[in-house]
Amino acid sequence: VSPRAKARGGIDLGGTKIQTVVVGARNQVLGEARTATPQVGGPPAIAAAMAECLREAAGSAGYETSGLIGVGVGSPGEVDARRGTVGGARNLNGWAEETYPLAAELRRELGTRVKVGNDVSVATTGEFELGAAKPYKHVLGVFWGTGVGGGIVLDGKDWSGRGAAGEIGHMVVKKGGAKCPCGNRGCMEAYAGRAAMEAEARRRHKKGHKTELFKIMRHKERDRLTSSVWGKALAGGDKMTVELLDRAVDALGAGIASAVNLLDVEAVILGGGLGIRFGSDLGPRIEARMRESLFDHNNPPAFHVAALGDLGGAIGAALLARS
Ligand SMILES: [Zn+2]
Repeated sequence: VSPRAKARGGIDLGGTKIQTVVVGARNQVLGEARTATPQVGGPPAIAAAMAECLREAAGSAGYETSGLIGVGVGSPGEVDARRGTVGGARNLNGWAEETYPLAAELRRELGTRVKVGNDVSVATTGEFELGAAKPYKHVLGVFWGTGVGGGIVLDGKDWSGRGAAGEIGHMVVKKGGAKCPCGNRGCMEAYAGRAAMEAEARRRHKKGHKTELFKIMRHKERDRLTSSVWGKALAGGDKMTVELLDRAVDALGAGIASAVNLLDVEAVILGGGLGIRFGSDLGPRIEARMRESLFDHNNPPAFHVAALGDLGGAIGAALLARS
């Protein structure tokens, strides 16, 4: 069997975009594609877009999808890996209430077997096996994007608790604090999540505070404050952007320190759309803020930005298709 025959697909399903890859036997990326996540049509429309996007990645690598040995999917929401279903995905159109047979649907479309896993845990596994967390056995992955997700590897194994572990974004960093998209108050995500930061920026803007954020958003023809909008505003020294990112850094540092105090991991890996974009600028500040709140000041964990970058979620998902 030639190594060409051992290619696998990976799909990272996010609230704003779908990223796909086709990787070879050594996990090298052979092809990739990206598309916007449909905001209408519910799970069937989203599944169709995922299949089309993977076909495009496979085509650029010279494959039919039926020639792949399998496809892995990293999905938000409640994933039942055995049944291949996804439910309760609040960031996806029409998916909050429904439990949808995603693996079966994609298998029908793609003509190969499909495995579904949790988006954050497949991205953490990707970093653990192939990226910045390779040297370690105990790892905390922090995925800073629309929300803030966490992945935990303990003793070399993915730790999911009863299925819902790793929700680092919902560690309480301020009792009775800001309202979080999850409905609770004072969560780390209420200060650091891209969606919560945008909501706060809109509130301040409405009250008359000045900012370049929405001008940049319109200029880029977006309808929300994407990580590239935040990046441009920060580079231009926009005061509100600096303030909101300072708040995010403070919340991330405090929340990560609390998780480290509990788990005593060897390394923290910062990923996600905002984590990758701002890792080199803000990563050292998040690390410094984390260190302030550590219990064991003499033995801080290593702190790295995710090495697989924007493709990490899809490459991690492709690992699901190995066996
Ligand atoms: Zn929350």
